[in-house]
Formats: sequence, C-alpha cells, structure tokens
Amino acid sequence: MTYSVPDDMRDSIREGSRVVVTMHFRKYLGVVEGIGYELPEGIDEDKVKPIDSIEPFAGVSRLEIDFWRTIADYYMCTVGEVYKAAYSGAFARQIEYLAEEKVLRGDESAAERLLSGDAEASMQRSMLKELPKLSELQLQAASQARTAFAAGKAVLLDGVTGSGKTEVYITLAAETLSGTAVSSGSAARPSVPARSVLYLVPEIAMSRQLCDRLKKVFGGKLLVFHSLQASSAKKRLYESLKDNSSTRIILGTRSAVFLPIENLGLVIIDEEHDASYKQEEPAPRYNGRDAALMLARMRRANIILGSATPSLESLYNAETGKFVRVALETKYYGEDDPEIEIVDTIQARRLHDMTGSFSNRLINEIRDCLSLREQVMVFRSRRSYAPVIQCAECGEILKCPNCDVNLSYHKYNNTVACHYCDYVAPFDAHCPNCGAEDLLPRGAGTERIEEELKAVFPEAVIDRFDADVFKSKTKSNAVLKDFSEGKTDILVGTQMITKGFDFENLALVAVISGDSLLSYQDFRNDERAMEILSQLRGRAGRRHIRGRMLIQTDTPSHPVFQSLGTGMRRSEMLDERRQFGYPPFTRMMKLILRDGHEGRLMRTGAALAEKLALIAGLRFTGPVAAERSKLKGLYITEIWIKLPRSQKLPELKKAVAEACEQVRKESEYPTDIVPDVDPL
Ligand SMILES: [Zn+2]
Ligand SMILES: [Zn+2]
Repeated sequence: MTYSVPDDMRDSIREGSRVVVTMHFRKYLGVVEGIGYELPEGIDEDKVKPIDSIEPFAGVSRLEIDFWRTIADYYMCTVGEVYKAAYSGAFARQIEYLAEEKVLRGDESAAERLLSGDAEASMQRSMLKELPKLSELQLQAASQARTAFAAGKAVLLDGVTGSGKTEVYITLAAETLSGTAVSSGSAARPSVPARSVLYLVPEIAMSRQLCDRLKKVFGGKLLVFHSLQASSAKKRLYESLKDNSSTRIILGTRSAVFLPIENLGLVIIDEEHDASYKQEEPAPRYNGRDAALMLARMRRANIILGSATPSLESLYNAETGKFVRVALETKYYGEDDPEIEIVDTIQARRLHDMTGSFSNRLINEIRDCLSLREQVMVFRSRRSYAPVIQCAECGEILKCPNCDVNLSYHKYNNTVACHYCDYVAPFDAHCPNCGAEDLLPRGAGTERIEEELKAVFPEAVIDRFDADVFKSKTKSNAVLKDFSEGKTDILVGTQMITKGFDFENLALVAVISGDSLLSYQDFRNDERAMEILSQLRGRAGRRHIRGRMLIQTDTPSHPVFQSLGTGMRRSEMLDERRQFGYPPFTRMMKLILRDGHEGRLMRTGAALAEKLALIAGLRFTGPVAAERSKLKGLYITEIWIKLPRSQKLPELKKAVAEACEQVRKESEYPTDIVPDVDPL
C-alpha cells in the first residue's frame, strides 16, 4: 500500500511509525515499512491517499520488519499477517478497552490468574541471583554448550525429564544477562556485553512452577508474555522492552518470538518437540521453534533447544552438524527409570479380568499406591463422558451437522458436543435415523473414567483435568493445586496433564486405551505417540519414588509400546523417513482448500493440480479429502507437496504461491486456498 505524507507530518514520520490510514472507507492502523520520494511504478498519483495521522505509540524497528518479512516469505503469508501475530491487539484501542473492562469484572483468563502479579510487582525488585548448583554432568553440559555457542552453533540439549535441563538453561541465561557469556563466533570479541534472553515454552498456563523458579533467580528481570494476557499487560511489556539500558529475561509462548527485544543474546526453547509451537490457524502458520532459529540467526544470538524426546527434525540437524547435541543422560536425582508394564486388554477381556475400563491388574496397582499414600495419574486421550453415541437398534452413529466428526456425550450437562466446532445440543435418546429411543453413549472418555474410578475407589479423592475443566479458571487452578499438594489421590486427564508439572509424590501413571494414540493416519503419528508416552513416563517417579507406568492396549505388540524406554524406535523412525522421503529429509507443504460447496471445491482442486503439474521439479499428491473432510460447515481437501532440501526451495515456493494466486483469480467463487509450510 502506498500513501502520501501530508506536510505537517514530514518531520515526525519515520520508518516503522504507526499510522492511521483509510482504505475502502474504513480506517486501519498501519506500520510505515519504508519512505520514498518517488511514486513506485504502476501507481496512479491521483489515487494515492494521504496518511490520516501518526499514532503516539512508539514505532517498530527495522529489525522487526526484516524478521516479519523473513517469516512471511518462509511461511507464504503476508507481512501484515505476521504483524498481526506480533502485536495481536496490543495497539488496537477497541480491543484494549474490552480487555480492561473484562479485568474489572474479574473475568481474567486462567493463565493470567496463574501468573498474576508478576511483571509489575517484581519490576521493583532487583535480580536475586539464587543461582542453582550444578551437578558434574550439568557443568559438563553447560561447558559443551558454551563451546558450541563460540563456534556459532545451535545446541540441542537432550535429556530425560528430571535430568536437570532447567538448571543448565538458568546458568546460561544468567551469564548472558550479566555479560559473561560467550557469544556466537566471539573469538574476535573478547568482552561480551550483557544481553537479553528469550525463554520459550509450549504453554504458559502449564509453566507456573518454572515461572516461580525463574522469579527466584532473576527477580525483576523476568517478564512473562503469552497470548491470553490482557492487552494492557502486553502494552506495558512492550514499553518496558523499549528501555534498552537493561537486560531482561522474557518467558513466553511461541508468539513471544515477535517481541521487539533489541539486545537479544540467548534464546532457550524448552520442549522443542512440542506440537504447541506450531500455529495452525490463522496465518502465519509458523512453528515457534523454527521461527526462533531464524531470529537467532538474524540477530547473532545463541540458541539452545531442549527436550527429553527431541523432534526428528532436530536429531537430523544434529546428525548433519547444524546443531551440537549435548546429552544429559542421567537423571539429576539419580533414581531409576520407571518400570513399564503393558496390559493386553483383549486378553484381559477374554479372561473376564476387566472391571469397566480397567484391567484388574491396574486396579490392584492403584490400590497398592493408595495404601502407601502415593499418587496416581490416569491418562485418557479423549475428553467427554463417551466419545461415540450409537443407536442400539440400527447402529447409527451421531455425527456433527457441520463436521465429519462423531459427536461425544457430556454427562455433566447432559449434552452432545462436537470438539471441532462449537456445536452443542441437549442429549435426546431418540435415534435420528430409525426413531427408536435407544441412543447409547459408547466408549469411555475422561468423564466416565473418573466416574468409574469413584465407584471402584469410593474412599479415594479423585479429580479430573481436561479442556472441560479448564474452561472454569477457579476449578482448574484448584485441581492442579490440590494434586501438587497431595490432597488428591488420583488425577484423571487428557494430554494437558503431560505438560510441565512436577508432582513429587506421583508413583503410578496409567494409560487407558493406549490404542487411541495410534489412530491418526499420518506419517508423524508414531513420533507424536512416543512423545506423549515419554512425557507421561517422565512424570512418574520423581525424587524419592521409583515410578511405574502401566499401559492398557489392544495392540501390545505395536512398536511404539515395545520400544518405549529403549530409545530404539526414534532412530528407526528416522530411517523410515529417509527411506520414504519424508521430512526432515525433504520439506513438506500442504495446500488446504476449503469451500462450503463440495462441487466447487473439487473444481478448484482440479484446476490447482493442473497448474502445479506445470511446475518443473515439483512432486505432489492430491487433491485428497482431509482426514476430517468437513469442519465447521466447510468441505476440505488437501494437496501435499514434497520439496527437496535445496537451493531451489524459495523458487519452488514462489511458483506454488503464484499457481494459487492464478487459481484464486480465475475461479468464479473464491475457494479458500491456504498454504501450510512444514505442517505438523
Ligand atoms: Zn437407530
Ligand atoms: Zn462440528
């Protein structure tokens, strides 16, 4: 967009200034990307409108704009979309007004509440410097990391849960903040100035313990940032970042990668394998980990990625020498790894050795824990009371009217609901197909698991943590607090319980219907299942207790279960990926086509495939129906593109973008065509 600068603004306007402009009779807030003295080619002078006004907020820097452009090019979106992600609402006045009103009404978000009172109160205090004491192994790891940093390499810190990665991060962060760190290729620069640290985590609401720990060490230097924060809090954070004279450590989720940290010296990416780093909707569909790698490269900042189950991408980068892998093999607390037991549920059912959803073996294990006053965690990947509702008369299964998804039954409010759109309806036992009053909830989600457990162990205190509970802030806070204080005996939950918690008295982790982790039809499925199981395994048995893990499954021989704890499967998976030419050995891109009209969608898909076929060196499959072929009333097909890891990559991406643009222009009804680069 090109606008003219009125005379009275000539002295005050800058590259990066925030301005109000008019487009199609509406006012928009924009950022000045560049200032020129001649009209760009092809622009009609008479059609150029003047800028309305310059906003009083501080502008953005060239560094930020350059980073946005890099992200936009890589993820095939507009710079404006990246800008929106970077400043999501922080400078839009209406949004801010609403957010503040919400806070006044006491309707803070759960995450906000968990972390309340952080930034400002602690700003007043100084850095406390309760630096952790490192074990011999941790000292070694930190020193290996420094050597890698000096050589300008990224570090992959590979260590199981409890091995003490956090202490290594804290040590390196403290060195960066105080200016004693080694910087990228620092041979030529003997003294390193103090610089700021960006500490990324997959989900902030799950990081309360980490937040407390960092606060103890860094005091007022710690700032917390996440997308659920009220925009007034975000704005304060932006403002404090502008003070370049001091260094900060910023703990945040993926979008924190866009914060204007001018003197960035170190980026820490905890749980780098976590799928939450990937933004699915809306654009930019970026991966926070990969964006942080680009950022660190642009700013010559050091970067360390950590995980107990490194992504295959990162393992590949370590293999090819792009990353330096630093292993923290032994657990800091020195306890043995938890025992893993697999229960064959087909066999158990045949022998009538099941009580509801539980094998009697599991029931005995839980009973033992309860008698020792140890805690138990029960994992089930599906929330709701029952994930399927079926007619006992005709076999009909209830589906969402807007999506290609089964409806699930929620007993606590007697409704049927879709987990992919906002469809909710009161439960009615009449079958829509045959009319019989015979609809039955089938299978067991977390709600039913909790109910069954209460029946088997009436004396135990049992709680549940999943997205339904998380809706209520007070409740979800209480559930976690009670469990960590040992007031709860058994906690039932979905994947939300796998992340970021340390429970010292947790002795047994049970997985119900482990098979449901294997049901996705894509090449990343085994990797994801391994991650979830490894994380759960890491939860069991910390500090004093030797933990146990018990997995109930119909397919006990599946390699994912068999190789759990041996580490074997990951190198096998990498081999499989190599063999079939999947990432990280190639680059993947998905074009998602969405349309409310199925025939139209097919026509657009065919037209696009025709155009793509003309691009030399491009391999693709599709259009094929997506795994869920209809969501929120829109039919979905996908085209999967495999790109070689080569210099030609940007060129091919550009050709794909042009093909999409042509089809958009030519088609009568604009089908939504969305590029997703490096899809998960
Ligand atoms: Zn029926
Ligand atoms: Zn739906």
